[in-house]
Amino acid sequence: MPDNLPEALVAVKRQAEDFIDKVIRPLSDKEGAEVSEDSIRSVKEASRKAGFFFKTQPVEFGGTPASTLELTVLRELFGRTNLPLTRFVFGPGPGVLHAVQGDLKSGYLDPVLRGEKRGAFAFTEPDSAPRATWGVVAGDKLVINGQKSYITGGGSADFISALVNVEQANGDKAGTAMVVIDRKAQGVAIDRVFTSLDGSSHVSMTFENVSVPITNIIGELGEGMPRALANIGNVRLMVSAQASGMCMFVLDFIEKHIKSPHRSGVPLGDKEGVRLRFADMRIETFVARSALYRTARVVDSGDNSVNETAITKVFTTETAGRVVDQGVQLFGGQALVAGHPLEKLYREARSLRFVEGASDLLRLNIAKGKLELGKGRL
Ligand SMILES: Cc1cc2nc3c(=O)[nH]c(=O)nc-3n(C[C@H](O)[C@H](O)[C@H](O)COP(=O)(O)OP(=O)(O)OC[C@H]3O[C@@H](n4cnc5c(N)ncnc54)[C@H](O)[C@@H]3O)c2cc1C
Repeated sequence: MPDNLPEALVAVKRQAEDFIDKVIRPLSDKEGAEVSEDSIRSVKEASRKAGFFFKTQPVEFGGTPASTLELTVLRELFGRTNLPLTRFVFGPGPGVLHAVQGDLKSGYLDPVLRGEKRGAFAFTEPDSAPRATWGVVAGDKLVINGQKSYITGGGSADFISALVNVEQANGDKAGTAMVVIDRKAQGVAIDRVFTSLDGSSHVSMTFENVSVPITNIIGELGEGMPRALANIGNVRLMVSAQASGMCMFVLDFIEKHIKSPHRSGVPLGDKEGVRLRFADMRIETFVARSALYRTARVVDSGDNSVNETAITKVFTTETAGRVVDQGVQLFGGQALVAGHPLEKLYREARSLRFVEGASDLLRLNIAKGKLELGKGRL
């Protein structure tokens, strides 16, 4: 439950509210439609001082990693502000590179955590491809061919962590691997740059005989899919917290609106039909938040949380879609004018049902988890 948070966590939440009021809001008030590099730098600097920046970073890199529950509380709180600058409060985490050693650590993980390099995640394949991206072992190299169709931030990334199907030189299948591919490596090309409805930027990439050191494989050969999914699992809860925060923003926003004067002579909130809709939004948000906090606690317990995380991601993001849609309906046509906070959220909420696993595919995993693996709790 969101209630009954440990005292220490309540104090961190208060500190974050203070940070929002003293740092994020004043900087946001100065911004136009786009956040400026100056403001981003100021947020990062203030966040370092306040300690939030290090909550997503491992201890061995000077981080003070927070529990999943703490990160969930904070991410939801930041989501509730609907202020884009909150995206820069946390420092870069290790993501799929966590626990790498040797050249991968010194060449990629360390610079990522210092904020000097940025990676992007390449999993999705185009429907038109004759085969999924593959790599052939050639001595101490892996030679990669194929394509990835939807890489967020790939245009400005220094490297890509890509899921690759690996074969031995004799053609034997060796399983999947997550492989770090330098953006500047010979044979890597961006073939399309595009922006999605929510405003985020992506690229599709091709790999033509791209030769990378075999040591660029993260972990062991054959571990690619579980590693990719483990990373996605963490991000799924992050997306869920964002979706829950989104619902709360809409509820705050709509409450103010339906209490304000309306041309009909009475505030909209005095009309029973409006109250019914508003109540539905609250019911769904309450249930979504309850699932979110319970799952965060399951993750922190160390138990298998794959099913719970998938359930929460589907429910919170679909709830956000409905709550934002109802919010637009109650606000009226002005909510669809470009630049209105609900117009922007309407676009953002739609993409949440695809990122980190489309809703229907997660449903299939949830059913498989129970029917074939006997996993998952209610
Ligand atoms: C904003 C945004 C950012 C993204 N960023 C990244 C990124 O950084 N890296 C990355 O790798 N990808 C990224 N993606 C891609 C995203 O992961 C995929 O869109 C998502 O996984 C769905 O895959 P797909 O688009 O290929 O659709 P498909 O897999 O083709 O599915 C389309 C629809 O078909 C149905 N369907 C598919 N398979 C089945 C089935 N077996 N049974 C029943 N129904 C089915 C479902 O309704 C599904 O929604 C991003 C997407 C968005 C929108």
